[in-house]
Amino acid sequence: MTLYEARLLLKSPAIVTVRKTERGYVKPSSFIPGSTLRGAILTALYRAGSMKEQDLEAEARSPKLLTSAAFPVAEGRRTLPATPFIASCKLCGATLDLTRNAVEALQAGRDPEFPLLCPKDGGPLESLYSRPVYARDGRLRPFRLKTFRATSVGISKERGSAVKGLLFDYEAITDGAEFWAWIVSPNDMQMPSRLEVAVGRGQSRGFGWGELNLRPVSQMPNLQKKVFVALSPFTPWKEIAWESNNLKVSKILGRKSKVQLGWDMVKKGLRPSVKLSKPGSMVVAELLHGEPPAFIAGLPVQVNESWVVGLNSLLTVDEYYRLMEVTG
Ligand SMILES: [Zn+2]
Repeated sequence: MTLYEARLLLKSPAIVTVRKTERGYVKPSSFIPGSTLRGAILTALYRAGSMKEQDLEAEARSPKLLTSAAFPVAEGRRTLPATPFIASCKLCGATLDLTRNAVEALQAGRDPEFPLLCPKDGGPLESLYSRPVYARDGRLRPFRLKTFRATSVGISKERGSAVKGLLFDYEAITDGAEFWAWIVSPNDMQMPSRLEVAVGRGQSRGFGWGELNLRPVSQMPNLQKKVFVALSPFTPWKEIAWESNNLKVSKILGRKSKVQLGWDMVKKGLRPSVKLSKPGSMVVAELLHGEPPAFIAGLPVQVNESWVVGLNSLLTVDEYYRLMEVTG
């Protein structure tokens, strides 16, 4: 398998949302789910003729192409989801990061401390957990994706006119936004270095088109360390296994939320909802055996006999800071 770092540059606004309300799709996600990115790549490979219909069916039945969640790029730098130990002061706006202290505590078998008050002015802190953060001048800062909100009118097919009460609100990520992610391809899948892909909703109306660039990663971080940061949502299970890869999880620090797992192409039905820890959760785990790229892009899991992808991407804490270009 080959590990790539992918960069996705949006050429048109994208509607990637976490929640559907009565008025339409609102509340954009701060990241592109790995399953969305994977679907976009498979569709693009199919369109380009490098995958056939039976290849897509085989991928749905037994996934080999793995993708992490895609987080934004801010001012040319990668953002990563904040751990539960990163917070910002409501008074002075400074960011406090107790992640490394938490790692020390976890390694020593102690309970880590969460940031409570600003050390400078005693101000109350707001947790940045799971929100994208990036480093500038050696300091972590929260990043907010640029979005815009628009309303479109539902058109009646019979009358060809606007229907009262059929308004759809959506919030779209602006074009020009850039994202990064890990991708693992199996040895027998030819991956081009550049692909035109479409993500999110409204693709037939021109939303979500972008250019995906892939760069192979040759140097693997040392994954023998036991404390990790999850780049994708994480399944709160004691053991995660996929093919010859096996992960034993002893502790997860981070809130769980219920996530609808999307459409199952094989079973032609909605997948169940499961509780997942948010990106940025800290995971104490042991890699029993397997190949590093699979753990980095994230092991797929089986829920009710259907495969779910785009979860469980793990970074060592050193790698977490190296990717944000924070030294020390
Ligand atoms: Zn403060």
